[in-house]
Amino acid sequence: MLKSPSTRILIVVMFFWATAWAEVSCAYPVKVSDSKVSVNIGLSVEYYEDKTATLTLKDAIRLNNENQFRSSVKLPLNFGYSKSTYWLSFSVMGDTASMSGWVLDIPYAPLDYITVYIPNGKGSYAEFRGGDKVRFKDRQVEYKNAVFMLGRDLLPYQEYYIKVSSGGSLNLPIFLWTGAGFTQHVNMVQTGMGIYFGVMFALLLYNAYLYFSIRDKDFLFCILIILVYSVEQASYSGMAAQFLWSDLPWWSNNSLVFFSILLFLSITVFTKSFLKLKEYSKTLNIIMKLYISYYVALFPAFFIMGYRITSIAAATVGISLIIMVFLTSLIVYSKGYKPARFLLLAWTLFLLGLGLMLLKLLGILPPVFITEYSVQIGFTANAVLLSFALADRVNMLRRDKEEAQKATLSQLEISERIKSEFLAETEKLVDERTKELEEANQRLVELASIDVLTGLYNRRIFNETLQKEFSRAKRTGSLISIILIDIDYFKNYNDYYGHLEGDACLAELADIFTNSVNRSTDTIARYGGEEFAIILCDTRLDGALKVAESIRFTVEESCIPHKMSPIGYVTVSCGIASITPLMQDKPEDLLSKADQALYKAKSSGRNQVVTSSY
Ligand code: GH3
Ligand code: MG
Ligand code: MG
Repeated sequence: MLKSPSTRILIVVMFFWATAWAEVSCAYPVKVSDSKVSVNIGLSVEYYEDKTATLTLKDAIRLNNENQFRSSVKLPLNFGYSKSTYWLSFSVMGDTASMSGWVLDIPYAPLDYITVYIPNGKGSYAEFRGGDKVRFKDRQVEYKNAVFMLGRDLLPYQEYYIKVSSGGSLNLPIFLWTGAGFTQHVNMVQTGMGIYFGVMFALLLYNAYLYFSIRDKDFLFCILIILVYSVEQASYSGMAAQFLWSDLPWWSNNSLVFFSILLFLSITVFTKSFLKLKEYSKTLNIIMKLYISYYVALFPAFFIMGYRITSIAAATVGISLIIMVFLTSLIVYSKGYKPARFLLLAWTLFLLGLGLMLLKLLGILPPVFITEYSVQIGFTANAVLLSFALADRVNMLRRDKEEAQKATLSQLEISERIKSEFLAETEKLVDERTKELEEANQRLVELASIDVLTGLYNRRIFNETLQKEFSRAKRTGSLISIILIDIDYFKNYNDYYGHLEGDACLAELADIFTNSVNRSTDTIARYGGEEFAIILCDTRLDGALKVAESIRFTVEESCIPHKMSPIGYVTVSCGIASITPLMQDKPEDLLSKADQALYKAKSSGRNQVVTSSY
């Protein structure tokens, strides 16, 4: 990540085409021609390592003449991390005149200082400077990486010198372009970058949209990863320096290290959160926390250790981190956390890319196209897949939620059914109980109003009925009569036959009275111990007399034996009173009249009916 040349991820094919077109020259000097678009002159340069970093151009020329310069064997040139200053020299031959001029292109933007010395053929040199520690306005060409105009005519067999030093990796791809070819090349690079950053921007928007609709903080971490990586790539390619911080050479030189640290940090935080390590593995959670602490500590460490050591510290631990992230995804996935699957794929691709790049960094693999661009390709795939992983997880959560909702719904239906069944059952039960209660109540009321021995109404009901009927008669101006009946010599009956026989006799007589009263409006009641009373509504005195006489007669005819009565049978005496009540009349008066009539019947020899006279 810290060593790749400029970012041209999405112009992979174009780049192949461009480099295939460019001829790799192994000859010395470089054979040039206006008809060739570009020449990769990496293998045609000779170099000298100035460990003291103090040599001047003169010293370099002298050392070159003394054959102290060495031929390069690697393509592109790569001196790794070094504090030395490197002097490079090359010369050209062939068709050295170009209509569109010649351009020297060193497409690795993070290089700090580059000085190009162009011979004028008269022993002196024109000097131009580039590199990311040089302000844009001080560069010969204001472009994202170091580019130098060598003029229309190259001087054949003359030494051109390049002096390079950098705090970072000394990665030195060097191309010689014709002006026309370079213009075309720049066009493609810019277009490719536009597409690349466009895709990254779209991914950012996509994740931002999902974050705002779902409010899952993992989307923020994913956004952070994509954002940091994009800015890092912009910084890497020199575009950030060109467009974002052209007047801050210190920052353009060092931003890369900050972004690398921030990237590793956001990857760790995202993994920890997305894979729910707190739940799935306490150990892995602690390991991720250690990585976070490490990278957080690298920020201040930068100011003590400087660019070179901090980059190495970030990158080397970064290898272990990415392997750890991959293994963590694998472990969490194997523990049954399905959303980890896309993450696993994402990091597999990225790991592959990173692995190739690191193997190149360590010098095990050669710096060919695939190792140069592996990280960018791997990361682009990674960024897309991380977004997929998040969307996939959202989808899974939604499915789970829907299933839970369904389950809840059917549970609700069941409870609703149980509830209504219960209610129906309860309602039925309540109805039954209410009916039973009503019946019981009715029985109680009846019990309270009916005399148990005779089955007739009791004195209470008699009084109520008399009051009611008396008032009604007052209102309607109708007649009301009452009959009082008393059994003759009943004390004697009891004394002779016993109380139980007396009770039986009372019941028998009650039946006779009931049968003698025909109208439904007539009320017959047990008035006292062996006294009875009948209320006859709308009945005149003679009507009442008929009823009483019929009762007396029927009792006599029944011939119920009564040894202690002069007649020999049970008989009754009746007193009758009748009235069309006026306002001032009271039912008690009527009763009293009937009682007086009864008294008369008794005193007149019993077994007779007497009417009262008002
Ligand atoms: P009279 O002809 O003057 O009416 O003489 P009597 O003996 O009937 O006198 P009275 O009416 O005063 O007597 C009431 C008697 O009725 C008293 C009691 O022995 C009897 N008696 C009252 N209530 C009951 C009852 O519920 N059962 C029985 N077996 N006897 C009752
Ligand atoms: Mg009596
Ligand atoms: Mg009596």
